[in-house]
Amino acid sequence: MTYDSDNIFAKILRGEIPCEKLYEDEETFVFMDIMPRADGHCLVIPKTPCRNMLDASVEQLAACLNTVQKISHACMDAFDAQGITLQQFNEPAGGQEVYHLHFHILPRHEGLKLRPPGQMADFAVLKQQADKIRKALAR
Ligand code: AMP
Repeated sequence: MTYDSDNIFAKILRGEIPCEKLYEDEETFVFMDIMPRADGHCLVIPKTPCRNMLDASVEQLAACLNTVQKISHACMDAFDAQGITLQQFNEPAGGQEVYHLHFHILPRHEGLKLRPPGQMADFAVLKQQADKIRKALAR
């Protein structure tokens, strides 16, 4: 299993395709998922290449989880969420579709199911939700 530097998240990191960016630090980058399964569904990725959890370094995983926790707190705040579901898929059999390590952050509310996968966001709504998370991060 090798890393393909033409994957869509590598292109986002290089600024070759647009995204609704929420946050970045030296090691990680965070943006909205364009097919959100919950309001505020966003993705945390390392800035350095790795395919998934299986080939990631301990440093890449630690940096991502540090950011996951930070963004999860902001999402709890921004959406008055009651919980967070964290998803991370590895290889096709594990449900992975984009081959650059990423963690899904899904704000959750009691009794509200995740939406089915594959439904494209309304980009105006996605931006409003991103604004809420950015505001919560700034608090
Ligand atoms: P998976 O590899 O199964 O974790 O799925 C990849 C995720 O990336 C899915 O939730 C997609 O909706 C999301 N996705 C794919 N392309 C983009 C993109 N250009 N910007 C933001 N999210 C994306």
